[in-house]
Amino acid sequence: MGVVSKILGVALAGVGFVTLFYGMSTTDALSFLWSFMGLIIMSLGFALITGGRQAEKKPPPPTVTEIRCGSCDFKEIRDFKKGDYVLMPVEDMCPKCQSSMTIEGVYIVREEPEAKYNV
Ligand SMILES: [Zn+2]
Repeated sequence: MGVVSKILGVALAGVGFVTLFYGMSTTDALSFLWSFMGLIIMSLGFALITGGRQAEKKPPPPTVTEIRCGSCDFKEIRDFKKGDYVLMPVEDMCPKCQSSMTIEGVYIVREEPEAKYNV
C-alpha cells in the first residue's frame, strides 16, 4: 500500500464527488441513485487513502500499571485502568501469598523502533 493506492483513492474520491453532485443537481429519476453511487465511490476512495496508512500505523502505546505484592516479590503488569494511581491498593490478592497488593507504578510503554532503515 503506497502512493499508487493513494492516487487511486484520490481519483475515486474525486469521481465520487462529481457523481454525488451530478446526482444532486440533476432532476432525472435516477438522481437518487447517482448520489448514492457517488457516496459509495467517495467512501471507497477515502478508504483507499486512509487504509494504507492505518495498516502501517500501530496503535498508540498502551499505558500499563505495575502491581506489586507487599509481602513477597510478586509483580504483575496489567492494562492501565482509569483511576489507577501509584500506591493505590488493589482489590486483587496476590496469587502467590494471598496478601494485598498495591500499585507500584503507572507507565506508558514506549515502542522500540522495529526496523532500522539507515544501515
Ligand atoms: Zn505475595
